[in-house]
Amino acid sequence: MKSLLRVGAALVGLSAVAAYVAVGWVAGIVLFTFAVAAFVLSLARLARAYAPTMRCSSCNATVSVYGRFRCSACRAVTEGSAWRCPLCSAEYQFVPCPQCGVACVRPDRGSS
Ligand SMILES: [Zn+2]
Ligand SMILES: [Zn+2]
Repeated sequence: MKSLLRVGAALVGLSAVAAYVAVGWVAGIVLFTFAVAAFVLSLARLARAYAPTMRCSSCNATVSVYGRFRCSACRAVTEGSAWRCPLCSAEYQFVPCPQCGVACVRPDRGSS
């Protein structure tokens, strides 16, 4: 009788391990899929953040975010990304649309 109980306990333990082996990889795959999706999304976000142009959300004009800009913090005129001054490291969250003046928000910031 005692040995039967022991076998039963061993079976319960084994089935727990079997259940873990059978189902554990599902959670692993789900986590892996989420990680890959997050990675791809962050890459897409990075690609948009470093794209040389973006679209004005108001008038749909092409707004250049790579070129010659005057830093409003140190007054230096530099060529490069509109989002960061290479001299004083000031960061900018938007570029005014040259056509309608609406703030074109940095793509890797904000809600999108
Ligand atoms: Zn515009
Ligand atoms: Zn600056």
